[in-house]
Amino acid sequence: MSSQWMLKTKGDPLGAVHRFLQDVWQAAGLDALVIPPNAKGQKHILTDPAGLEEVNPFQPLMLMNIAKVIPEVLKEHKDGRVGVLLRPCEMRALTENAGRGVIQTERLLTLCVDCLGTFPEDEFEWRAARKGSEEGLTGEALQFAPQGGISAYRYRAACQMCVSPGATEADVNIGILGLPVRQTVLVDVKNGPLDWKTLTDGTADPALSTKRDIMLAKLSERHTRTRERLINGLMEVLPTDIEALLDQFENCGSCQMCMDSCPICTVEFPRQFEGRYRREDVAAWLASCAGCGMCEQSCPQHLPLSIIFTYVKQQMEQALAI
Ligand code: SF4
Ligand code: SF4
Ligand code: SF4
Repeated sequence: MSSQWMLKTKGDPLGAVHRFLQDVWQAAGLDALVIPPNAKGQKHILTDPAGLEEVNPFQPLMLMNIAKVIPEVLKEHKDGRVGVLLRPCEMRALTENAGRGVIQTERLLTLCVDCLGTFPEDEFEWRAARKGSEEGLTGEALQFAPQGGISAYRYRAACQMCVSPGATEADVNIGILGLPVRQTVLVDVKNGPLDWKTLTDGTADPALSTKRDIMLAKLSERHTRTRERLINGLMEVLPTDIEALLDQFENCGSCQMCMDSCPICTVEFPRQFEGRYRREDVAAWLASCAGCGMCEQSCPQHLPLSIIFTYVKQQMEQALAI
């Protein structure tokens, strides 16, 4: 059964979340925490809670989908409890991989944050330089959390059409969308036998949950409309079905960068037969797609893979429904 708690942020939502994560780490007896890297080369794992000061799950930049590294981290920490701090699309990938039985989640404590969206890397760097610091961009994004975020049209295509930027599936979900984050952040606990009363600032006012639910519903509608617009804009060049997508992959040579960056493929890679990817492998991959857009970010041909994969997935689902 889920329960809702709140953190009083006193003007500093990121600081309040840091303190909360530190307390949860100690209370849950974590061995390590998998974190979103905030800069190229930053390690994706912490083994000392003091390092949490450097972690920023609200930064409008996504460099990798950390669901990809969880199997390896679980192997490294064979007996201990491992925490994972994820964005919603990373949580979706983890859930998909767990559903396919390729990841065991018993030793994981999943913590997910509402996502304000992320910029392409070059756009992020340009904006950070203009703003004077990367922290300034986080501050700006958080400032607009009550309105559901900003600059939607400059975000990565995956973010503009994200099926759900709300943290809803993890053991502990940190809610900021639609909320007055300079005063309060919501903590929605699905699972986790800890003393949440002492780890938070007490039970949340139900009005907070309602506000957030309204914003999540608005964003879902907005993203659905954007998805349709982006697909319609490219309709003439999109592969019409999975066979057409396999044809397209045949022109890619041995690149595979989209698959290497994908949290679904890195756990179960599509195989080839006589130089062509197996239809059933690619169909299973797309059926599990979490919509994170890391494939598109890595494609050297700059193919709009978020839109291509979303469209082919839709076509597959429609064909199955007939
Ligand atoms: S795809 Fe969704 S959850 Fe992932 S970074 Fe973009 S908005 Fe956030
Ligand atoms: S196919 Fe692309 S969008 Fe889908 S999970 Fe893989 S990397 Fe993310
Ligand atoms: S990353 Fe782009 S070029 Fe490479 S295999 Fe994927 S779609 Fe083809």
